[in-house]
Amino acid sequence: MTALTRRFAGLMLIAAIGLGAPAVPGRGVSAQTKITSPEQFFGFQMGADRKLVHWPKAVEYYRLLEKESGGKVKVVDMGPTEMGNPFLLVIITSPANQARLEQYRQMNLELSDPRGVSEAEIKKIVADGKVVICQTMSMHANEVGGINMAPELTYDLVSRTDADTQRILENVIYLEIPSFNPDGAIMIHDFYMKYVGTEYEAASLPWLYHKYIGHDNNRDALTMNMKDSQYVGKLMFVDWKPQAYVDHHHMGSYGARIYVPPYAEPIRPMADPLVWREMQWYGGHIAYKEEEAGLSGVSNTSQYSGWGHFGFHWITPFHNIAGMLTESASARLATPLYIDPSQLAGGARGLETYKEQMNFPNPWPGGWWTLRGIVERQKVSAWATLDLAARNKETVLWNAYLKARRQTERGAAGKPAAYAISANQHDPLTLNKLVNALMAHGIEVQRSPKGFSTAAGMTYPAGSFYVSLAQPKMGLIRYLLGETHYMDNEHTRRPDGTPIRPYDMGQDVLAEFMGIKADPLDDAVTGDVVTVTAPVSAVGNVAPAARFGYVLDGRLNDSFRAVNLLWDKGVAVRRVRAAGTGIRAGDWIVPASAGPLAASIARQTGVDFTALGADPGPAAFDSTRLRIGMYRRYRGGNMDEGWTRWLFEQFGFPFAEVYDAEIRAGNLNAKYDVFIFADDSTAMITGEPGGGGGEFQRASFAGVPDTTPPEYRSGIGSDGVAAIKDFVRKGGTLLTLGGATDFAITRFGLPVRNVVAGLSSKEFFCPGSTLRVRIDNAHPLAYGMPAEGLVLFHYSPAFDVVATDFNHRNEIVVRYADRNVERSGWLNGEKYIASKTAMATVAHGAGTIVLIGFRTQNRAQTHGTYKFLFNALVGGPR
Ligand SMILES: [Zn+2]
Repeated sequence: MTALTRRFAGLMLIAAIGLGAPAVPGRGVSAQTKITSPEQFFGFQMGADRKLVHWPKAVEYYRLLEKESGGKVKVVDMGPTEMGNPFLLVIITSPANQARLEQYRQMNLELSDPRGVSEAEIKKIVADGKVVICQTMSMHANEVGGINMAPELTYDLVSRTDADTQRILENVIYLEIPSFNPDGAIMIHDFYMKYVGTEYEAASLPWLYHKYIGHDNNRDALTMNMKDSQYVGKLMFVDWKPQAYVDHHHMGSYGARIYVPPYAEPIRPMADPLVWREMQWYGGHIAYKEEEAGLSGVSNTSQYSGWGHFGFHWITPFHNIAGMLTESASARLATPLYIDPSQLAGGARGLETYKEQMNFPNPWPGGWWTLRGIVERQKVSAWATLDLAARNKETVLWNAYLKARRQTERGAAGKPAAYAISANQHDPLTLNKLVNALMAHGIEVQRSPKGFSTAAGMTYPAGSFYVSLAQPKMGLIRYLLGETHYMDNEHTRRPDGTPIRPYDMGQDVLAEFMGIKADPLDDAVTGDVVTVTAPVSAVGNVAPAARFGYVLDGRLNDSFRAVNLLWDKGVAVRRVRAAGTGIRAGDWIVPASAGPLAASIARQTGVDFTALGADPGPAAFDSTRLRIGMYRRYRGGNMDEGWTRWLFEQFGFPFAEVYDAEIRAGNLNAKYDVFIFADDSTAMITGEPGGGGGEFQRASFAGVPDTTPPEYRSGIGSDGVAAIKDFVRKGGTLLTLGGATDFAITRFGLPVRNVVAGLSSKEFFCPGSTLRVRIDNAHPLAYGMPAEGLVLFHYSPAFDVVATDFNHRNEIVVRYADRNVERSGWLNGEKYIASKTAMATVAHGAGTIVLIGFRTQNRAQTHGTYKFLFNALVGGPR
């Protein structure tokens, strides 16, 4: 054997170990225990062509490994998903560590919040503790690599007995989420298997790969509305606080084979710098191990910027966790994709051309791209993360302490020092929801039983909240509560000044989304604040005597829930048209006869039932439950529609999901009073060409087969458009949100112009930003709103209502501020939007069209503007 062949033989050996080649019976298995390999259990190699792991089967496999592994695997059923499937946490570590898991968890919590812990104690934890690493698989369910890789990774960890494996098991507690979206995994598996071998093989799933929110499940990290998010959020942000987190995803098919950490520019300031250095460190080791294993096409420091939306991997750096991504090139699910070398291209941030460069030294040459290629690369990345942590246990743990300590010190020394959140808010029940969201992130929130005043002379009433920045998650607090401006510099513009689109949002100021005022304080307030230890909630009071009936505060979102509960019981409810003694426009009037229901509804909703002083007579009108229909389409589904569905369920609005055929059949007035198109493009609604959609949508050419099964090629078509017009003409209300306003404007020929359409991004650019607006809160669609507020603008339309002879038929409900429009985010080209219309109604025939340009219910996060939507769903004068 020559030196050269020996070297190759060595590489082959490393590759074989690293990639978990088909199991040799008995390899690495103690004499008395047989560990079933994935191949044996599933009947195919992970990532084999045209084979996908089925989640129920995977659940069985992890439970089997728990039995066979000799104590190295613990499977925790975290609870049911939104569709009732089991959501698993698989904890992998040595049997000795498993026996002391709770002790290690407590030690880890001390490192991640060392306030009050002595340095001697920290040093002891660093010596005795274990690194905690969390990795999550296939959150985006059509990104199938992770869920197909994890069984093999888990098997390798429990069956191999080499020194590398032993070091990992000894030094690392590995928290594996083998599917971050079990519902979606099942949908993707079943749909793929239904069509494999047919002309529709590998068709995109026609609906969302989650009951409600599809691809937005990552964005749900901000408020954790969904059960899956709550499980992972509690695991990472409260219970375990791992040192590193890797979320395994897929990207498009024609660039690098896998992106690994670190991120490209720009990064988001205010994390501890160690967290970014850790990503370079882990990413360097991952890329190194990929090359060692002979795997080509690995890129890092590219494509994904460090400042992105607050999805799981991008919010974790502000939890002092090295939050990282891998992104593998997609095949066609488990169907191989042939790629000609000429089709491979760069064109991404940090990977401008597809050729050898420092962060991409080994381009993949093209050919057949398979799920196995993805599984191999993802497995090396996941293993390398564990390996680096295991080799550097004490460094990782000490630096976990340093990150937490230094962030706390920065928070204590900087300005603002804290945020005060007054109990006296426009919608105090929504304040409780903000506080609970902060606590779900493991942020320490305090409350003042008696109230407090600040050095600057501001006073806050009893029950007000206080959030100090002298705590480890100070960067996160700053972004969730404080005005935030996306950076505008050479990292965010091309040389000619064109803005580079940020990854989704320009900011994530939850307080602004929720309409809650959080005041930055220059100086800390001491004394008379008590740490809140459990989620806050309110129980509404019911007036003991209410001769004229009860009043529900129209400013509270939850009053809509209370009214829906009353309507469920057949109670007739009125609404106040004009303010009077003790009543405001938009308040709800409940008859005294509903008294027996009041206590239970007040308890459920937190809404007070106060006594009405006198009957307002004609100053109130009968408000009735409207029959709501909402368009639901295929073509991958519509996330905004899914979020809206979820929101309606939370607030108790009954509604119907309406597909194309029902619309095309016409006579919609017989079933619906209000019809909703959630944010969408006109082409996606009508089914015209050019609809786009789908993250990895393939180019569409007449000569190339359409793999979409015919029954899922949706769009309402010209019949549907005619039926919608007929519905409005006969008195229906058409409610269009965001981009769907274009459908109403163009198909109805409304005298409304989108003033930002056609502007270049150099002229006008506004990604996910909160903008100041003026609100006509005497208008029934704005009842309960303040006169000034904030709306979320996300590449949204803004309007001019064009002058005609029929201007009296149009009503402007919300307008952008005249100047100083941006509150948070990035608004480039304010002059194009200042004073323009944000929300309007246009009469058409006997009906009304409502245009809401901004994101009024975005991701069930913008509580501050829900009422614009809700008001359109209840009956009364328009
Ligand atoms: Zn993804």
